[in-house]
Amino acid sequence: MTPQVPLFINGEFVTSASSQTLPVTNPANQQLLAEVPMATHDEVEMAIASGLEAFQTWRNVPVSERARIMMRYQALLKEHHDELGELLAADTGKTFEDAKGDVWRGIEVVEQAANIPSNMMGETVENVAGGIDTYSYIQPIGVVAGITPFNFPAMIPLWMFPLAIACGNTFVLKPSEQDPLVPVRLVELMREAGLPKGVLNLVHGAADQVNQILNHPEIAAVSFVGSSRVGDHIYRTGTDAGKRVQCMMGAKNHMVVMPDADKNSTLNALVGASVGAAGQRCMAISVAVFVGESKDWIEDLQARMAGVRPGAWDDASASYGPIISKPAFEKVLGLIQKGKDQGATCLVDGSDCTVEGLPDGNWVGPTLFSDVTTDMAIYQEEIFGPVLCCITVATLDEAIALINACPFGNGTSLFTSSGGAARKFQHEIMVGQVGINIPIPVPLPFFSFTGWRDSFRGDQHAYGKQAVRFYTETKTITAKWTHTDTSSKTPNMSINLR
Ligand code: NAD
Repeated sequence: MTPQVPLFINGEFVTSASSQTLPVTNPANQQLLAEVPMATHDEVEMAIASGLEAFQTWRNVPVSERARIMMRYQALLKEHHDELGELLAADTGKTFEDAKGDVWRGIEVVEQAANIPSNMMGETVENVAGGIDTYSYIQPIGVVAGITPFNFPAMIPLWMFPLAIACGNTFVLKPSEQDPLVPVRLVELMREAGLPKGVLNLVHGAADQVNQILNHPEIAAVSFVGSSRVGDHIYRTGTDAGKRVQCMMGAKNHMVVMPDADKNSTLNALVGASVGAAGQRCMAISVAVFVGESKDWIEDLQARMAGVRPGAWDDASASYGPIISKPAFEKVLGLIQKGKDQGATCLVDGSDCTVEGLPDGNWVGPTLFSDVTTDMAIYQEEIFGPVLCCITVATLDEAIALINACPFGNGTSLFTSSGGAARKFQHEIMVGQVGINIPIPVPLPFFSFTGWRDSFRGDQHAYGKQAVRFYTETKTITAKWTHTDTSSKTPNMSINLR
């Protein structure tokens, strides 16, 4: 019998009573791995109620004890790194190395959660007026929810719940219904690390379950990572319901190639950043902007792209895996066709791709278009497949104007050997993450990570130790520590401190 993915409510794994389920499959061969239930209304209620009850005690657990649980969690994640990588590879089709990288980038965030006492320090100013001091505390806000996408099933849940919990909040996680197996294991290891019951809860589902969370009066804040279409809905619904909301959303990332860049490393970076992980990264490069004479390199790029191939997770020679689902696969193929129909030149066509021994996989080969213009669907839409579009411009100014006119602002990069060009680019570009001779500039979690413009909505404190600001309130206290003037009968009518 196909196993059902469990919910985790009040410290226990439970089988959902829901009659609605979706298949969880390996996209490399369509093997059915499990059925994921769409949690019932009552189950989502129970998860939130359990978080609310646990909050009353968890917020009072000493901060150093909360940190110690995160230290144990970090150690457990490292101990189970290979096992998590294998599970992740089966559920997403990612290559083993890529799958392990997904887990590792999450472990780095847990390390920030283990450092929570320093990250939660308030501020103090002594003697703001005679005998009066002002100081602030950082306090948790209550039950927080996280809604996560399919493409990083370890890293993105780990962006959210460890920090939120370390701050003293409780959490309800609703991971992607497409690959929920790793989130279940992450929760299991969190319990093994000693997390008390009710502090972390896990429900499965899709739009209905998310909408219930968004409208629930006991949810204080919502972190979302996913597409722009869904993110816009979540931002509007959550903020209308009076919640603190942050949404990290879709992208269309450009890499600018200057003629003075190192050709070999630039082209290698372009191939890896565009087709790596089958292009299913919010920081993938999907547009290459060739400035001036660098356009002559497109021919070499074509040869390198044609030499890359997808394959099974345990095939060490495969560069990337399959597309996550049949609908996503059809969408990528549809956009490749539209690119051809709308007049772009398809230099490498991956739409008819096979992998030996895996005839049913959602395979798309590397695909390269030149002569792309900004009115084409392949430029305007997020393809989320191994497809790279080439655009040529005359100057760096033109490249910057092109990128700043694109509605998305998640990531971008410039390859050059000129310090002046790099300085100009990093100063003028309106994008959240900028790489200089680095194709996918995802910062480590002691920096922030947020897209600009249509790649992001809401509170900017979205990632790493900065997220402590999202998951907490600041309470500022002004206290008079001396008793003076006890005989005076005159009330103090001013707002000045005295
Ligand atoms: P998605 O938006 O389809 O799903 C994300 C989550 O929203 C899932 O948990 C899903 O169940 C839920 N959801 C789906 N439809 C919903 C609806 N109508 N109402 C409420 N909830 C709904 O995204 P995806 O396909 O899983 O992930 C890929 C997208 O995520 C891409 O657009 C990618 O750029 C983006 N992404 C962004 C970042 C970032 O940091 N900006 C990181 C990773 C992924």
